[in-house]
Amino acid sequence: MADAQAWKRVLEIVKAAGPGTTTVVSATSGTTNSLILAAETAKNGSLEDAKAISEEIRERHIALINDFFDLPEAKDEEGVDVCINHINKIVSVLDNYLLGIQTLGELSPKSMDAVSSIGERLSSFLLAECAKGQGIPSVWIDAADIMKTDSDHGKAAPDMDAIHERGKSIVHHAQSGKFPIMGGFYGSDENGVITTLGRGGSDFSASIVGLVADAEAIEIWTDVSGMYTSDPRFVQHAFSIKELSFNEAAELAYFGAKVLHPATIQPAVEKDIPVYVKNTFEPEHPGTRIFSDADADSPVRAIAFKKDITVITVISSRMLLAWGFLAKVFAIFEKNQVSVDLVSTSEVSISMTVDKKARLDAIRKDLEDIATVKVYYNQALISLVGKNMMKSKGVAASAFEALSEFPIRMISQGSSDINLSVVVENEHAVEAVQALHDTFFPNRTTPENP
Ligand code: ASP
Ligand code: MG
Repeated sequence: MADAQAWKRVLEIVKAAGPGTTTVVSATSGTTNSLILAAETAKNGSLEDAKAISEEIRERHIALINDFFDLPEAKDEEGVDVCINHINKIVSVLDNYLLGIQTLGELSPKSMDAVSSIGERLSSFLLAECAKGQGIPSVWIDAADIMKTDSDHGKAAPDMDAIHERGKSIVHHAQSGKFPIMGGFYGSDENGVITTLGRGGSDFSASIVGLVADAEAIEIWTDVSGMYTSDPRFVQHAFSIKELSFNEAAELAYFGAKVLHPATIQPAVEKDIPVYVKNTFEPEHPGTRIFSDADADSPVRAIAFKKDITVITVISSRMLLAWGFLAKVFAIFEKNQVSVDLVSTSEVSISMTVDKKARLDAIRKDLEDIATVKVYYNQALISLVGKNMMKSKGVAASAFEALSEFPIRMISQGSSDINLSVVVENEHAVEAVQALHDTFFPNRTTPENP
């Protein structure tokens, strides 16, 4: 969604998909990050600096619209005016939020949602207008009217009953041959206050709409050709996977594959709707098809990794076997609202991984009341994922052989039986993943291979 050319490509894809296609869009590239920065600047810095960011967002969107309607096939003076009015209106809403944050010196999750949703409130309306300019009978849908959620700002959970009810209007437009276009990522709670589903949440919005509309397929269009065997930016010879099962895709997304928001798969599973991950820069590439009984051609299907995680080890020779100890430990995580990704236990200790953004100081203090605590920062979680992994002999042996050069802090064979995870130091992560990739995808190391 970076520039006018990208919007044109997006609209070609939408048009080719045919009438009745519903489009869910994210913000233009970089906008959500800028918005968050603007909100933080309004709170901690000067209003002037915060407004400079909002002005940059305004100018960038105006330039995009001018470029789009300058394209020879998109001439439409009226369209330009409608778009520019919308941009000015939404950016002045943003400026009011920033003023409020600055005046109160307070940035609540609620205010952050109001600000960070601005990107989609802009892009979705504008894309719908641009679509009309291309002869596509679009209707703009304000996600605040459809995506009803609870009030857990920053990571709101969808209220599926309400969304089913509200979503009927989308289905109605789609059935009458229109092209509904809605912003992803945001929604509103029962009082109509703006909420967001969490970063990267547009994918999740799209699959919720897919479920509600009982869609034939959910397509996630991004800037890479599907889900890869590993992150191709860091891992040589990583390649796009043709087919994945729902579980494998969900596990990969959760354990670090950034192309897909981890929650995207849930709604699709419910009605067994296939999910495609495809590339706007290379629309002919088949990308990855995710569906219930995808074929697995190799035991390990992909290797995901997540850097900058933290391992917390709780040691208690006295208490561990006493009943209730684990419950106490996890109650501390619950109290501090921190979710644990991986757990492994020994007779005297429990190790857990948490996201680096977790409120570690508070947790550490609470844990130290009941046990000895060690915290290891700058760790990386590496996960091998594959639905036939546990049925195949020698996977663990080959994995540890490949990792023999690297000290391993933690090991866990996921209880989902499609995941084997290890924790290593951040600095070893990429090399370790490369070694695993070379081991499990050996014939892919020549460039001629697809
Ligand atoms: N714009 C939002 C974000 O950057 C949502 C998304 O792109 O999926 O997180
Ligand atoms: Mg995304």
